[in-house]
Amino acid sequence: MSKQIIEIESFNPYETRFPNRKLVTRETLILMKYLREEGYEVKVLPDNDQPIEILYKKGLAEFFADPIFIALIGIPIGVITAIVSNKIQKLIDSLDKKETINPEHLIIQIDNSTHNYLGENFPKEKTKRIKKKRKEFKDGFERCFEIKSPKSKFPTPMFLEHKPKIIGWCSLYTDDDGLKAEGMIIDKVVKRRIKQNRLNGMSVTGIATKTECSICKKSYTECNHVAGNEYDNKGCYNSIIKTDYVETSIVKEPINSECLVNLR
Ligand SMILES: [Zn+2]
Repeated sequence: MSKQIIEIESFNPYETRFPNRKLVTRETLILMKYLREEGYEVKVLPDNDQPIEILYKKGLAEFFADPIFIALIGIPIGVITAIVSNKIQKLIDSLDKKETINPEHLIIQIDNSTHNYLGENFPKEKTKRIKKKRKEFKDGFERCFEIKSPKSKFPTPMFLEHKPKIIGWCSLYTDDDGLKAEGMIIDKVVKRRIKQNRLNGMSVTGIATKTECSICKKSYTECNHVAGNEYDNKGCYNSIIKTDYVETSIVKEPINSECLVNLR
């Protein structure tokens, strides 16, 4: 039997500021766990010794917001879509109703054809468009990260809905109640919309560099336990031990109602 490998591309939109990282989103990681559990070898590209780190967005009501590219080597598409569509459906069912999934954001490549997670053909043009959009997104952040904050006490850029356009500056810190941000909004339109209560959420993008699975105590990127699932009546959760904060965004609909903006 020929070797069966699943390759998943890592993507780092924040390369300039956080170079040499092998990033996967939490959804990609869950998918990897499911596939490993089924006995497949899953490689995250580039195939080097760099440890896998988790790119997460805290307080954002969107699931599979970022596209995932998977390549199958020696595995028929039907086998994977059977696993993936089933697991993804379960995942969606377990999620907060507010979360949505974009089925076009899980792209499976096999030999020369491209499919969505249901196994349906995915036009090459669409793939190109998604890759182009992703490149623009990355370039946009690159430009933003070159801009220096006008106030040294607020070094972290603030964006609107995680899009690469600076609308303010802040400093992030953690206290007993959790993560806090203090800063200033420089965009007049955004400021007005916050005052009118049309924008009131906050979301933070971070890179989890050290994690621990509550079940096996290993790094959450290495084991196959999935946060939110139960194992022998014990709930699994992923403890983030070390993290880098990438950016913070003002958002319309925060997933966590505790992430709210107070304008003074
Ligand atoms: Zn574990």
